[in-house]
Amino acid sequence: MFEVTVEDTFAAGHALRGYRGKCENLHGHNYRVRLALRGPQLDSIGLLFDFKDMKRILSEIAERLDHHHLNDLAPFDRLNPSAENIARYFYDETARRLAELKPEHGVRLASVTIWETDTTTATYTGE
Ligand SMILES: [Zn+2]
Repeated sequence: MFEVTVEDTFAAGHALRGYRGKCENLHGHNYRVRLALRGPQLDSIGLLFDFKDMKRILSEIAERLDHHHLNDLAPFDRLNPSAENIARYFYDETARRLAELKPEHGVRLASVTIWETDTTTATYTGE
């Protein structure tokens, strides 16, 4: 099995509703996001999936969130903008865009990981 990843960053503010502590207050993060695709077979030139297409997908999604207050944007106007929920949002948005590209050879979305800080991550795998 092969796995390829790309990363991107964005800056955004959020406030965790219902959290008992400082994270309930408006604050910001420089988020990092990593997208991982997996598949058993490479194409005729030895690629699992073109990094260029992966980076485009990831940057389109990150661009929508960049320099925004996440609590103001759907789905985070109702869903708490935790790192876990942000990872799932990227996963779902990536899955939709990936399906449009009709990936070959059994390539599938493996995971999305969000860094909220240098030492804290949340990963969603769709399972
Ligand atoms: Zn936070």
